Amino acid sequence: MNSPSQSLQRTEAVARRELLEVHDYDLRLDLASDAKTFGSVTTIRFGSQGGETFLDLKPVRVNEIRLNGEVVDPDLLSRGRLPIRTVEGDNELVVDAVMAFRNDGEGLHRSTDPADGKSYVYGMMFMDAAPSVFACFDQPDLKAPYTLHVLAPADWTVVANAPGVNPEPGVWEFERSQPLSTYFVTVVAGPYFLIGDDHDGIPLGLGSRMSLASALEADADELFTLTKQCFDEFHRLFGIRYPFGKYDQMFVPEFNAGAMENPGCVTFRDPLVFTSRVTRGMRIQRATTLAHEMAHQWFGNIVTPAWWDDLWLNESFAEYMGNRVTADVTQYDDAWVDNAYARRQWGLNADQRPSTHPVAGNGAKDASAALQDFDGISYAKGSSILKQLNATMGDDVFFAGAIDHFTRHRFGNASMHDLFESWELAGAGDLSSFTTNWLRTAGPDRIVVDRAAGVIRRTPPAEHPADRSHTFRVAVATDAGWRTESVTLDGPETPYELDGRAIVLDPYEDTWAVLEADPVSADLLEQLLPAVEDPAVRAGVWNNVRSAFHNAALSPGDVIDLVVASPPVESTEDGKRRLGTWLLGDVLPLAPAGSLERVHVAALGKLGSTEVGSEHQLSAFRMAISTATDPGELRGWLAATPDGIDLDLDLRWRVLVRLAALGATDADELRAALDAEPTGESRVAHMGAAVSLPTAEAKALAWDVFTGTLDVPNYELEAAGLGMWRGDQEELTAPYVDRYFDELPDTVRVRSGWVLADATAFFFPVTSLSETTLDRARVLAADTALDLSVRRRLGDAADDLARKLAIRTAYPTS
Ligand SMILES: [Zn+2]
Repeated sequence: MNSPSQSLQRTEAVARRELLEVHDYDLRLDLASDAKTFGSVTTIRFGSQGGETFLDLKPVRVNEIRLNGEVVDPDLLSRGRLPIRTVEGDNELVVDAVMAFRNDGEGLHRSTDPADGKSYVYGMMFMDAAPSVFACFDQPDLKAPYTLHVLAPADWTVVANAPGVNPEPGVWEFERSQPLSTYFVTVVAGPYFLIGDDHDGIPLGLGSRMSLASALEADADELFTLTKQCFDEFHRLFGIRYPFGKYDQMFVPEFNAGAMENPGCVTFRDPLVFTSRVTRGMRIQRATTLAHEMAHQWFGNIVTPAWWDDLWLNESFAEYMGNRVTADVTQYDDAWVDNAYARRQWGLNADQRPSTHPVAGNGAKDASAALQDFDGISYAKGSSILKQLNATMGDDVFFAGAIDHFTRHRFGNASMHDLFESWELAGAGDLSSFTTNWLRTAGPDRIVVDRAAGVIRRTPPAEHPADRSHTFRVAVATDAGWRTESVTLDGPETPYELDGRAIVLDPYEDTWAVLEADPVSADLLEQLLPAVEDPAVRAGVWNNVRSAFHNAALSPGDVIDLVVASPPVESTEDGKRRLGTWLLGDVLPLAPAGSLERVHVAALGKLGSTEVGSEHQLSAFRMAISTATDPGELRGWLAATPDGIDLDLDLRWRVLVRLAALGATDADELRAALDAEPTGESRVAHMGAAVSLPTAEAKALAWDVFTGTLDVPNYELEAAGLGMWRGDQEELTAPYVDRYFDELPDTVRVRSGWVLADATAFFFPVTSLSETTLDRARVLAADTALDLSVRRRLGDAADDLARKLAIRTAYPTS
């Protein structure tokens, strides 16, 4: 059970920053005592103007607290805060406490690997989890150096932000770190498997669970090569050396995000160590994530936002630089195309929701409010806008400004205003109108071709008026192939004659807008798409189509026709935000009868016509599995896969999940499959399969997970939510639609933070396409008594549902 803690108010952070100057933290963690809790002794030395303030602390129990030698009554601790009275000048605070390990991916997360029974720990302090690990003044602009001492079981390895030594078994001593914000502090501990290397004077490390050792070894060359290439490029672009000593990249179990940029010790979700065969899309995603975290070492870690509402700048900058550097200097020169498939619609959908917000300056009053705006707008839209800004000012000015910013605020904090000042000083000119139009105004313009009128129309969102000019390239089909030309839209209508030709708007992502495929282009593309060779134009086609479909301007049947004509396997189904997931989750449920079978036949056709052993073949096979309706065919693949494809763990579970959804397997067979290979990946896949079965027991299992009756780690929680709602199982899931709305508010009693918000989205009744469900979602989302993150996710799920209903109304299937 969580007792809700208070979210830090901006005004409180400002007052505490004015009062205090933190000199350093000395942190002693005892991870060897037991499996549920750990000892945490923190000594904070700080200067003060003198006066009242508060410490952040979320312990299981307190042994003793002393401020300047005097005992402080621990009973004063309330909702994660301890009021303290500081003296003017130097102060020393010593907090001896016992803390709880967590299993929700925050604080100090501890898990046991089902493959071998070994236990692992990692620290994730972002955004406000640090006080559940050590006593602190938890806000980004009270930076200080940390000296860490760790006691751990003798067979464990411990890695942290700074370099460490292991003078005797179980004892780990770390060097004093550079100044860090509380949210950067980490410790990764357990019988981790480590591989070392070095480059340009920087010691490099990779680590993973022992059971992933051979998979990590197989990928180590690629990961080290990427790391070295990126270091060279960041050093060249920024002209400032990486300042955090060594650079470890630790792949840790049950990590919520893709990765976290802790200085010197980046943590990644460990599904990024590939135990089954993956497609290039997944490897590009891993490469850009790696580069993104490296970019943060400068942007975010050397200079950190003073307050959470500038977090977008961290993410937009890291996202832009991560894609750019990956595309420019690594083997993944198609990183931008991959980004078009994986990220563009994520950002555009977020920007079209009622909950849209400006990229910058949302004015969040407290930390949890700021976190709500940490979404596709912060990453995809922000990155796109920085890319435009870079194109406008040129590399020389762009990087001169960035370097000035890093130099001026080294190991400190800054705001967006400071960065723009550095850019203006570097010669960017007056950026105020750019800032107003692109960063301080929410919502995207909608851009469509009106053939009858002979114009391209630009419409700003009604709720967020703006007058933005767009310059972007279009690809126009001609008798001699595709012609690329530049278009500038300076007003609501720009003359443009198409003479019945197909057009792809902004395939190179020069601007940020909702650019929709018109029905004539969509029709023509059925013939043209199979022969399109430029991968950016193919990605542009799908983005135009997805944007039009999202706004009910293109029918599900038209989308299916295009899919059948040219199955979109080049983008792969690897990622949650890609075409395969969109097709299965958004398009097929609204498409005419027989569409699933048509897509399946198209996938089989692609499977039979692609090169044996290629990644396109693998991708086509995955789509064939997820669209299969004949259990016999699926069983056949369990016995023998097509030539060129091995039935690895990932594929075996994909087939089993599909069989489960069709009701063509049972709990016993699924359990036997888990027992045969009881890895962490199996356990998550097993949960997804078990709740997909069309039985009352399966749905009850998922529900026990949702309500917390059954306590499972975060990845299984996700699998249970995403697996339980199946379009053809309405009778079984119907009771859970009401139960979702009735029982959601109480989930704050069993979870918090990241997983609380995620569970709201994962368990939303996505298959209940009714106005009643929409009404219930909207009413509950408006309930101000509800947790802010639950309200946001619920409101966004309601928006997705409203769009599905609008599409169904516009294009009824019967
Ligand atoms: Zn990031």
